[in-house]
Amino acid sequence: MSRLADALLPRACSSCKTPISSRQTDLLGLCDPCCIGVTLVPPDACPGCGGQVPSTADSPPRRCPRCISRPPTFERLKAVVVYGGTARDLVLRFKHGKAFSLARPFGAMMAAVAARDGLLEGIDLVVPVPAWPARAVARRYSPPARLALEVARMTGLPCDAKVLARVRPPSSAAHTSPRQRYEQVRGAFAVRRPDKVSGHAILLVDDVVTTGATASEVASVLLAAGATRVVVVAAAISLPDEV
Ligand SMILES: [Zn+2]
Ligand SMILES: [Zn+2]
Repeated sequence: MSRLADALLPRACSSCKTPISSRQTDLLGLCDPCCIGVTLVPPDACPGCGGQVPSTADSPPRRCPRCISRPPTFERLKAVVVYGGTARDLVLRFKHGKAFSLARPFGAMMAAVAARDGLLEGIDLVVPVPAWPARAVARRYSPPARLALEVARMTGLPCDAKVLARVRPPSSAAHTSPRQRYEQVRGAFAVRRPDKVSGHAILLVDDVVTTGATASEVASVLLAAGATRVVVVAAAISLPDEV
């Protein structure tokens, strides 16, 4: 990883723009004070949703109560950072089209975490969660597609952003319950290239995972089109206050 880190090191902190020395930063390109605001998702996070597992959970595999009562359609999910503090600011800037350059460090970390935790084994294709076209145009890029390209570049896996399409616009309603989120995304995605999906294991890439509803819906569409397995890697995860 150190060679990778050296290659990616920027000259200024990617959050506050303070000049930083080459050995002072992590893969997100943050200075030490900004690093303190970034929480990495621990390796023992729930393999189902990437969230926290209570210490009383059975082991292994330690899944959270939410995943036990309502298993997601994808096999596993891994996120890199917890959506909060400095990481929240970085992810929001990237998500809103204002920090194109963050695709590279986020993608590198996603590839590293996916490799570390065995998500890449047997994977045939990297596919991003598709953006609503008008939104991608307004933001000048689709954040999940940029991340998927970086993950593919780092892992050497093929990537295809045209396999899936978003066929219904995202809801603008804020503060929805997990149940409402699942209803909002139902039927929002379609497989455009079933020939690329059928019989293949897919690594699905997203920017931020909140309830897991979007990833779960996309995974079910891919599985219905014949995908053998779907695993998910995300830049950030928004953890519920209580598990
Ligand atoms: Zn900083
Ligand atoms: Zn879980």
